[in-house]
Amino acid sequence: MNKQKVIIVGAGFGGLSAAALLAKQGHTIKVIEKNEQSGGRASIWKKDGFIFDMGPSWYLMPDVFEKYFAEFGKKPEEYMDLVRLDPSYRVFFDINDSVDISANLDKNLDLFETLEPGAKEKMKEYLDKSTYEYDIAMNDFIYKDYKHIIDFLKPRLIVEGTKLHMFEKLDDYAQRYFKSEKIRKILEYTIVFLGGSPYDSPALYSLMSHVDFNMGVWFPKGGMGKLVEAMQRLAEEQGVEFIYNEPVEKIHVEKGKATKVQTTNDSYPANIVVVNADNAWAEMNLLEEKYQTYDQRYWEKRNIAPSAYLLYLGLDTKLKNFIHHNLYFDPHWINHFDDIFKQPKWPKNFSYYVSCISKTDENTAPPGCENVFVLVPVAPDLKDTTEVREEYFNKTIDHMEKLTGENIRDHIIVKRIFAHTDFSSRYNAYKGTALGLAHTLKQTAVFRPRHQSKKVKNLFYTGNYNHPGIGVPMVIISSQILADIIGRIYAD
Ligand SMILES: Cc1cc2nc3c(=O)[nH]c(=O)nc-3n(C[C@H](O)[C@H](O)[C@H](O)COP(=O)(O)OP(=O)(O)OC[C@H]3O[C@@H](n4cnc5c(N)ncnc54)[C@H](O)[C@@H]3O)c2cc1C
Repeated sequence: MNKQKVIIVGAGFGGLSAAALLAKQGHTIKVIEKNEQSGGRASIWKKDGFIFDMGPSWYLMPDVFEKYFAEFGKKPEEYMDLVRLDPSYRVFFDINDSVDISANLDKNLDLFETLEPGAKEKMKEYLDKSTYEYDIAMNDFIYKDYKHIIDFLKPRLIVEGTKLHMFEKLDDYAQRYFKSEKIRKILEYTIVFLGGSPYDSPALYSLMSHVDFNMGVWFPKGGMGKLVEAMQRLAEEQGVEFIYNEPVEKIHVEKGKATKVQTTNDSYPANIVVVNADNAWAEMNLLEEKYQTYDQRYWEKRNIAPSAYLLYLGLDTKLKNFIHHNLYFDPHWINHFDDIFKQPKWPKNFSYYVSCISKTDENTAPPGCENVFVLVPVAPDLKDTTEVREEYFNKTIDHMEKLTGENIRDHIIVKRIFAHTDFSSRYNAYKGTALGLAHTLKQTAVFRPRHQSKKVKNLFYTGNYNHPGIGVPMVIISSQILADIIGRIYAD
């Protein structure tokens, strides 16, 4: 392997994983991060004894983490204390109407039967198909680089594409199995993790039910910040150097090659540059227009994934009726999807997610207190004025109080709101997106931005904009694909 000087822009999961993998290939790696810590959208915020995960909170697809750590001869358990949650999560359909999804599949099948007679057998069939889809997707399509449409349209995909329900919408597919709206909501909500809507995303993503029901919901004790720590440690063990609080301002290109990276403080020579920073923002802000593979017009036409209205709340009491993960599905949830994807606006009525990690790890809050994280998915590019932020704070707390029958407002001792402007200022997120590029069929695989620049040969990208897409496991896979590409190009 030809040893190269590599600069990685950004220490999100994409940057962390690319750094460790490229260091293992023998290159010299510096990761330059604009913020004060690694993790990117998975930063942590500590306040008055509370430790908040600012972004992701679901550790899903444990196989992906095992495969990643195995690249270094390690296991995730050597770096984190991982527990499987049981129940996996609680779903609220309305006041006094909730169900718990268990870590035990048989219990879930029995639950489905109570929601719709005959659903137990149908669910077994649905899950067999989603397991099949997961296996094919992971083995043949996900860990793969797509440079040309030809790669994507190989005969296997054409044959499997129909079997994998690539060309059918998730909601239509679920409707073929289940009449119960409650069941369909339980099977479809995971698409929001991928920045999509069940009414517009390929039914292939029913594979998420295998992830949810068979692989389970895991938690690194201490929070997702522990996963960031673990991956940073792994990278440092490979010799990676991290530089913080230095926003990159420009990537210098000479004769079609990136030569150095300019930060607010310094400049760093490079033979290879890998951008993990928000892909859209970085193309338009770090490169001269002639070197942009995708220009402003391209980005304006993309279907950008949702943003999120977030609350980090420290309570001086325990909440009895919430468990670790809680989902509230509004009776008219389709209107909320429309407010995100069709006519973008702040939603009138909305579904939301509440996590209380202090239920599983009491060290994430002071004694007797609750660590509460609230997420309302919202359209990108909305104005989040102070008035709107407070209005939604009140709406959300009012609803949570109705749902649980508990007083929350009077117990708030730590409060922080995080929305579009924060995503933009903290992570340079294009249009304040929480997640990057949505997973529509037209933005899948070869139709996502490439890992290698078309204009600058030694410039590469990794993260939630690239294939395979959104979510911590996907971003790690994105870096594995990238490392293979770089490994091939710079082989001796
Ligand atoms: C609220 C929320 C909840 C989520 N929940 C889940 C979940 O439960 N499970 C899951 O798997 N996924 C979840 N996700 C998605 C997941 O967090 C992301 O897909 C993933 O973390 C993205 O990683 P990334 O490396 O692509 O990008 P980022 O995390 O954005 O990393 C990019 C890094 O680049 C840095 N950067 C930007 N500009 C510059 C610059 N000019 N110079 C230097 N550095 C720069 C940023 O500060 C950042 O650290 C969630 C995301 C959010 C926001």
